Amino acid sequence: MRLFAARRLPPTPANFRALYHEVSATADEEDGYPERLIREIASRLPYDTAERKRAGKQIERALANNDRSGAEEALFTYLGTISHESPPAWNTLISSLLRHWEQRQLGWTVARKRESLERVLAANDPATLHNRLQGLVRAWSQSPADPESQLPDDDPGEASNTAGSAVAVAQTGPERTLVAPGEAGELIARLRELVLLALENVVPAFLAEHPDLIRDAGALAASVKASSKPAQFQTIAQQLRKFAYRLEMVAADTSEIRAGLIKLLRLLLENIEEIVIDDQWLHGQVEVLREIVAKPASLRLIDDAERRLKEVIYKQSQLKHNLAQAQQSLRDMLAGFVDQLANFSEITGTYHDKIASSAQKISTAKDINEIGTVLDEVMRETRGIQEEARRSRDELTAATERARRAESRMAELQLELDEASRQMRHDQLTGALNRRGLEETFEKEAARALRREVSLCVALLDIDNFKRLNDTFGHQTGDDALIHLVRIIQENLRPNDVVARLGGEEFIIIYPESDLEQATAALVRLQRELTKAYFMADDKKLLITFSAGVSIWSPGESMEAVIGRADDAMYQAKQTGKNKVVAVGAP
Ligand code: GH3
Ligand code: MG
Ligand code: MG
Repeated sequence: MRLFAARRLPPTPANFRALYHEVSATADEEDGYPERLIREIASRLPYDTAERKRAGKQIERALANNDRSGAEEALFTYLGTISHESPPAWNTLISSLLRHWEQRQLGWTVARKRESLERVLAANDPATLHNRLQGLVRAWSQSPADPESQLPDDDPGEASNTAGSAVAVAQTGPERTLVAPGEAGELIARLRELVLLALENVVPAFLAEHPDLIRDAGALAASVKASSKPAQFQTIAQQLRKFAYRLEMVAADTSEIRAGLIKLLRLLLENIEEIVIDDQWLHGQVEVLREIVAKPASLRLIDDAERRLKEVIYKQSQLKHNLAQAQQSLRDMLAGFVDQLANFSEITGTYHDKIASSAQKISTAKDINEIGTVLDEVMRETRGIQEEARRSRDELTAATERARRAESRMAELQLELDEASRQMRHDQLTGALNRRGLEETFEKEAARALRREVSLCVALLDIDNFKRLNDTFGHQTGDDALIHLVRIIQENLRPNDVVARLGGEEFIIIYPESDLEQATAALVRLQRELTKAYFMADDKKLLITFSAGVSIWSPGESMEAVIGRADDAMYQAKQTGKNKVVAVGAP
């Protein structure tokens, strides 16, 4: 009875029986509810799938609530997870998954298949994975096959060959069309339409900046239209393959240009903060970018712009630092001057007070001795104030001088920095690249040549008898001759060729995408141009000639190595009479 009261149980026969058995510690099996047995079984069952885990929780909950029918139901739910049919083994499952993956079913695109497979693969226990995979394969296998994508297994080339004997050519107007009986013929006709669509519409739409490619695509389309025999198709296939390769190159270029532009933009953005110190700088930087945007973008143009922008940014940060320093020292000076002024007026204030009190003393003096003492005091004070005034004036003069010097130093610095940034990559006298600029350019061109599998040539030029010209007309004329030569070289280079001054009267020309023969021809052409463009010295027409060695770069080789070979060749040109070009191949 105590238990009834404590647990607040209604006095039903079932509760009487349950409490009786509890108190007497005997088993209550009369109503057929083997609770302990269920507990025992539940504790031993495997909960290896999500479904089984769910059923396990249900059993547990029902037992805790003394819910008999709930426990029974949960137990049956668990039993439901044990299938009578034995599931397919993993190997069978995977092989049917692969088979159905390859087949095309209506409503199942590859993307959709992949998506559902990925979802299934997210299962974190093997049994669930097995179940879900089975479900997925079932879903695929029950979908009807997609008739649109049932292509014949043979490749189209073979199809056209086997159908070859049956192919007939009909002459309809100026364009001959291919007619073939059966499926293969229809397929070829459709493929042909697709190829023409790509060549005549897709290529012009996407490659507006490449008129040469559009022209070639047009020519290819014309030959596709004109072809009727399998042998002709073979040639067209070859041409198409070549064309596709060129398209790939264009695509590679485009993505490189994009990457370069992004880098450039990033550089600019990162430095905007640095720039805003002075609007003029911002103006200059934006000017550079504006120039680039005005021309059609090319990799070299972007390289060049990046280089220029880096120079400006470098110079600008230097200048900013120095300017900030100069400003600080001016501020310090001004502060010192104001302190000095305050100090001075304080001293003069005291002086006035003293003089006033001295005047007072004098007017009330009783004898001359007293006046003498006061006058002495006045004299002393006056001398002191004179001294102070002189010191202040000197200090002021010195400060003004320091400010003037700081100002002129700032102007000097600006000039120096202008010069330094200009000299960074270019030769000051001729404007050709200097050694550093040459190294950078060579590195880029070598990488490009490697990537595109094209050749790269390097020439070394040395002016003939330059010493004599210097000795006869003076150093200044010598300098002018160097400037003249570089101008003529630059006027005759292709846009991608680069000239650099190696030092003294020696120059390097880099010829990208050229073989030895082409580079030699370019140098000979340059020699001819030089004979036409006279150099004037003291009203005399002088003919400037050079001897050159040219060599082809072999992949992986250093710049020094290829220049060394060109130098040897140049030496040979000098030895055999000057005003010559000697070419040497790769080692
Ligand atoms: P070769 O035909 O064998 O090359 O004879 P060369 O006189 O040209 O050769 P050499 O190397 O003996 O003399 C080169 C001269 O170039 C020596 C030097 O005074 C002069 N030179 C080097 N750099 C400069 C420069 O920047 N300006 C001027 N004006 N002369 C320079
Ligand atoms: Mg020399
Ligand atoms: Mg020389």
